[in-house]
Amino acid sequence: MDGPGCPLSGGAGAPGAASACAGCPGQAACQQGTNTGPDAGIAKVKERLGQVKFKVLILSGKGGVGKSTFTSLLGRSLASKFPEKNIGILDIDICGPSQPRVLGASGEQVHNSGSGWSPIFIEDNLSVMSIGFLINSPDDAIIWRGPKKNGLIQQFLTEVDWGQLDFLLIDTPPGTSDEHISLVTSMREANLTGGILITTPQELALLDVRKEATFCRKMKIPILGIVENMSTFVCPKCSTESEIFPRANRKEEVEATLLGSMPLDPRLARCCDTGKDPLIEMKDSPAMISLNSIVNNFLAECKFQP
Ligand code: ADP
Repeated sequence: MDGPGCPLSGGAGAPGAASACAGCPGQAACQQGTNTGPDAGIAKVKERLGQVKFKVLILSGKGGVGKSTFTSLLGRSLASKFPEKNIGILDIDICGPSQPRVLGASGEQVHNSGSGWSPIFIEDNLSVMSIGFLINSPDDAIIWRGPKKNGLIQQFLTEVDWGQLDFLLIDTPPGTSDEHISLVTSMREANLTGGILITTPQELALLDVRKEATFCRKMKIPILGIVENMSTFVCPKCSTESEIFPRANRKEEVEATLLGSMPLDPRLARCCDTGKDPLIEMKDSPAMISLNSIVNNFLAECKFQP
C-alpha cells in the first residue's frame, strides 16, 4: 500500500504500486480509496476489537522505567494462569519496539493474508504484534512523523488477525504524545478497559506519571492502577532487598490504586535481554512473587471472572 500517509512505504507514488504494497492487507482499500476518514477508522477498530473483553494500555511518563518489561510479564503471567484464555500484546512503541526481544521473538517474520497480519505466537495462547517485526533490523532508526505513526497505529488496531482474544495489552510509547491521542481516539467506541501506569520511585518519574494520570482523566481512560518498578534492589547472591531510590508518596499524588511494587533484579534484565521467560527462569524470586500479587490486583480492578 502506498497511498498518502501509508505508514509503511512513506506515502509516495500511486496507491498499491510500490513493492512495499505486496501482500499488505490494506492494499485493496487503499486502491479503492476507502481507507480514509476518522469515523470509518473508529468503526473499523470497534469491529475488530469490540469483542476483546479487556483492552488495557500500559503507560509510563518516561522511557526506561520498565513499561515493556511489565507488559511482557503481565502477558506471560495471564497466559500461564489462564491457559484457556487468549492474550495479545500490541507493541506500538514505534520508536523503541522491544516486545520482540523481550518475548524471545526477534527476527520473526510477520505474515499477512486476506484476513490481516498474523501476530507471532509466543505460547499457544499468547501472541504479539510489534512494529519491530516490520523493520529490517532491530538497529534501524525509526524516525517517523506524526501522520505516518498515526496511520500505522490505525493499521495495527484494525488489521491484525488476533483471532478470539480475552486480553489485549497495548505497550505504548513513553509520555503523552500524538500517538496516544490517536490511539485513544481510534479506540473510543471499542470500550477501553483502562490504563496501568508504570513508574519508578524517583521524584522525576513520579512527576511524569502525574502528567500521564492527568492525560488519562482528560481522555476518560479509567486508571486501573500504578505499578512501581525497581522499588528495591534484590541481590542475586544473597536475595537481600535494599532501597536505592528516594521514595515519594505516589498514591496521594496521582490518586490511583497502587497495584504493587516490583524489585530491580539483574536476573530479570538478563531474561528480558535474551528473551527467556522469567516466570520459569526465576520462578520463586521476589520479583516474580511481587508480579503475581500485582497481576491478582490488576484482575480484581478489571473485575475479571475466570
Ligand atoms: P521502558 O519500556 O519503560 O522503556 P524497559 O521495559 O525496556 O523500559 O526496561 C528498561 C531496562 O530496564 C531493560 O533493560 C529492562 O530489562 C530493565 N528492567 C526493567 N525492569 C527491571 C527490573 N525490575 N529489574 C531489572 N531490570 C529491569
